Amino acid sequence: MQERESILVDLMSKPGPAAPTAAKTVQIAILGTGMGGLCMAAQLRRAGIDSFVMIEKAGEIGGTWRDNIYPGSGCDVPSHLYSFSFEPKVDWSRKFALQPEILDYMKQVARKYGLRPFIRFNTEVAEARFDEAESLWRIRTTAGEEITANVVVSGTGQLNRPAYPKIAGLETFAGKAFHSARWDYDVDLTDKNVAVIGNGASAIQFVPEIAPKVKKLTIFQRSANWIVPKPDRPYTEFEKKMFRRFPWLVKLHRYQIYLTLERNFLAFIQGSFFGKLFERASRKEIETHIKDPELAKKLTPDYPAGCKRILLSNDWFPTMARPNVNVETSHIARATPEGLVTEDGVAHKADVIIYSTGFETTTFLAPMKIVGRGGRDLNDVWAKGAEAHRGVAVAGFPNFFILYGPNTNLGHNSIIFMLECQVNYILQCIEALRSPKVKSIEVRKEAEDAFNRELQEDMQRTVWAAGCSSWYKTAEGKVTNNWSTFTMRYWWQMRHPDFAEYALGA
Ligand code: NAP
Repeated sequence: MQERESILVDLMSKPGPAAPTAAKTVQIAILGTGMGGLCMAAQLRRAGIDSFVMIEKAGEIGGTWRDNIYPGSGCDVPSHLYSFSFEPKVDWSRKFALQPEILDYMKQVARKYGLRPFIRFNTEVAEARFDEAESLWRIRTTAGEEITANVVVSGTGQLNRPAYPKIAGLETFAGKAFHSARWDYDVDLTDKNVAVIGNGASAIQFVPEIAPKVKKLTIFQRSANWIVPKPDRPYTEFEKKMFRRFPWLVKLHRYQIYLTLERNFLAFIQGSFFGKLFERASRKEIETHIKDPELAKKLTPDYPAGCKRILLSNDWFPTMARPNVNVETSHIARATPEGLVTEDGVAHKADVIIYSTGFETTTFLAPMKIVGRGGRDLNDVWAKGAEAHRGVAVAGFPNFFILYGPNTNLGHNSIIFMLECQVNYILQCIEALRSPKVKSIEVRKEAEDAFNRELQEDMQRTVWAAGCSSWYKTAEGKVTNNWSTFTMRYWWQMRHPDFAEYALGA
């Protein structure tokens, strides 16, 4: 087996148990070709395992980075840490990469590891059902085809299905409307009255891009966000040259970024001093750019920093101060053919409505139907809020693994780090399955429950458990999306599976 490199140099480099000498072939189906799916596939190839198929519902790879092509789309995690440890990119053009460069990077990874021949494009999974007699997953596509695999690894992510607001009368709206994750470049926004619903991580990136060209832009804001400056700039040619010449500098840079971001977790502990520092930095930005006290009040959040994602932007507040931009805080009551009417009775004329209302995040693998042992549907098991063992495995669902699953999202560090931890762990489970004596691996319910009990107890000290609503939690208030502490702790837990936590079926 090719020696695995590390996430953070050699932190992750310990290989799992060696593949059994008389290893049998394990067929693996990877769902999705976003960062998670690509990471899994590349690592399988690096481990010398070619018995896998990648199932992709779209016609191209890239997941969220294929779909989110809105103006200004980019990443708020520094580029050098938003790349795989085993595939560093030395020539990132800037500190915070934009979408085209990230998608190019993903295509480059697919090319380098020869992944395209493994991908079945335009194939959507409707159902995956575990055949207990055969210890096999039977995957049914929406076209009615069956694909079988010993192992299923879901890489469909948390941010792939746009959420649309439910507004009375929306079907009567006579203009154009689209979601920011499905940007319609055929709609020319020049000199138009544009309504943007939502002001989260996506809106703060595209609103400053479109504001100069539209006639009037109205932002319908339900809650303000804590927004701090983005320390972005292009890398100089000299820096890129040094990174190229001394690859250890890239590793050092990754370490430095990782440790800085890791420290930021302190801001997510209720009442923390670090959280107050973010609030102070954000208030200062408002003071600098917003001279109208009423607007400044509207733009200042009334909940602790971190409860919703802390956003990075240098141009949001200047954009809010533009004469053609209006921040509307009265809630939307209904839509009419001409636009939107707010609860205060004011009619807001709109030619175009852009929904920047986020994603369906708490239902995870839905609308796919995942049926495990005894005919149990994962969507039913998760009816009171998704949970999994270490974010990757669920009792009753043998040989089934999830990337970027429940409680593995972060507010402070790179998801790629979490994905690499998960892939490292799942690879070792797959290696166990390659033993002729092992047909199935299934997490024990007691282990899963103990893990989640501890995680939710830990969660109580975080800002996510505090009052504000966010996409991190269910309507009932259970935090199903976020990891509760430092990522180092996750890394530590995910170095090797504890096989005592699993039932290995012969
Ligand atoms: P989001 O952060 O969930 O924001 C959705 C916005 O829509 C919020 O302002 C929300 O208001 C508002 N909203 C939702 N439903 C509404 C309704 N019915 N009526 C009025 N307003 C409504 O979604 P997003 O901006 O697409 O970002 C989602 C996540 O994607 C981010 O948190 C981040 O993890 C990821 N992302 C990352 C980057 C990056 O740079 N790495 C960039 C973009 C997105 P409330 O706040 O009041 O609920």
